[in-house]
Amino acid sequence: MAMRTIPHFIGGRETPGRSGRRGPVFNPATGEQQAEVDFASAEEVDQAVAIAAAAARAWGASPLGKRADVFFRFRQILVDRKAELADLVSSEHGKVPGDAAGEVARGIENVEFAAGIPHLLKGEYSEGVSTGVDVYSIRQPLGVVAAITPFNFPAMVPLWMISNAIACGNAVVLKPSEKDPSGPVLLARWLEEAGLPAGVLNVVHGDKVAVDRLLEHPDIAAVSFVGSTPVARAIYQRGTAAGKRVQALGGAKNHMVVLPDADMDAAADAAVSAAYGSAGERCMAISVVVAVGDAGDRLVPAIAARLPKVRVGPGTDPKAEMGPLITREHRDKVASYLDLAAREGASVVVDGRKQIIAGNGFFLGVSLIDRVTASMAVYKDEIFGPVLGVVRVASYDDALELVNGNLYGNGTAIFTRDGGAARRFQHDVTCGMVGINVPIPVPVAYFSFGGWKASLFGDTHIYGPDGVKFYTRGKVITSRWPDPATSQIDLGFPQTR
Ligand code: NAD
Repeated sequence: MAMRTIPHFIGGRETPGRSGRRGPVFNPATGEQQAEVDFASAEEVDQAVAIAAAAARAWGASPLGKRADVFFRFRQILVDRKAELADLVSSEHGKVPGDAAGEVARGIENVEFAAGIPHLLKGEYSEGVSTGVDVYSIRQPLGVVAAITPFNFPAMVPLWMISNAIACGNAVVLKPSEKDPSGPVLLARWLEEAGLPAGVLNVVHGDKVAVDRLLEHPDIAAVSFVGSTPVARAIYQRGTAAGKRVQALGGAKNHMVVLPDADMDAAADAAVSAAYGSAGERCMAISVVVAVGDAGDRLVPAIAARLPKVRVGPGTDPKAEMGPLITREHRDKVASYLDLAAREGASVVVDGRKQIIAGNGFFLGVSLIDRVTASMAVYKDEIFGPVLGVVRVASYDDALELVNGNLYGNGTAIFTRDGGAARRFQHDVTCGMVGINVPIPVPVAYFSFGGWKASLFGDTHIYGPDGVKFYTRGKVITSRWPDPATSQIDLGFPQTR
């Protein structure tokens, strides 16, 4: 039987690729290839950008109420059919139903935010800065923007970008991850059903060839990227060198600091869900617990005791709590850190390779490594899998030094009963998002999401108010209108005020 092909979505219709290049799309829970996805050539990217540029002119001039209507309808479609989208995400990414439903719910928040666009685009007005002179500001769309997204949130991260970009009046060329590309095509179809004119959102699939063309195309005004740090850095450098506005969010190594006074049961529960949820393939996953003082002696056994209860299985199992990894190669690379950690002198408390999951899916059980130090690869690398390391330190200051000395600065969390310690931590720590007794502090859609250091290249965070700022440019108008009383023509105004 011929393999199903996932086409591009350009100008309002599914458009089969012409480059002859394709990539495999697996079902990670079975290990079988379920489809192949077309990879766009530079010419196909050019075609999508030309269609987007033509659509952007009318869409950018459309009334704000019309744009809001599209997002209200889109939101209703998403709410009504969220299970369909979650199932699709699960089948290509592997995440379990709860994680897939959570991803869709967090994505919908961004659609709800974008539906408020008439309010979000309100400018400022200063009346009477001089005689007859007023100054006011407006924000206008950029034109065509590119959105390049990672595999780990194939519905939510596109929604982070396309919701605000489109509501602000731009057209978008979205290049999703080639590993799980179907969700974004479904989103594009549903947005059109909600009334979005054809060509405002286009999805081109592919790899570096498509991304390189987007980065150099003269009609792309801005690039939003989310993915790994080396690619984020390169995208930022190339995009800005080509004169584009770029926000490029990169990888992470998120620390959860546990002070000795913390509620250890609550901290252990939080560590388990934040480290192993979505198989650790979250940019906000906790991958390092920093146990202060004697916290490690109580926390490590508490986490280890919980791990046999984590049910690993396919997304088709409604009780499964953790699914497979995205590819066989990635699973094997993640597993290789367990031997490496032991060789480097850490203590492997729970080895996920010992948990056998039937079939050929890309599964790996949950792993816990104690007595990790900052010089070890298992600490320094973004492993991006279900492997949690514990670093033991003597004091709060040592914990802070560790977190702040890390290359990455996406999210972090502190667990404590001491409000003063938490307050000091939120001030001192060099990360963009901080949780206090909250392990994964992903901001709600009306704040903005972004890390510091090698977790973000650019100066605006993504979605929320920063998203509106990123996808528009400001204009300030200074106007002078003489008082009608001074007019040469009698307009019926009294001559004095
Ligand atoms: P990735 O960097 O491999 O790929 C991201 C996107 O870039 C994909 O669309 C891919 O096709 C494209 N790409 C890959 N290599 C490229 C190259 N050499 N040139 C041009 N384009 C290229 O990332 P991934 O494996 O899909 O996603 C996981 C990574 O994303 C992790 O590092 C994770 O921390 C990060 N991430 C970060 C955030 C955040 O908000 N900071 C959110 C989600 C994921």
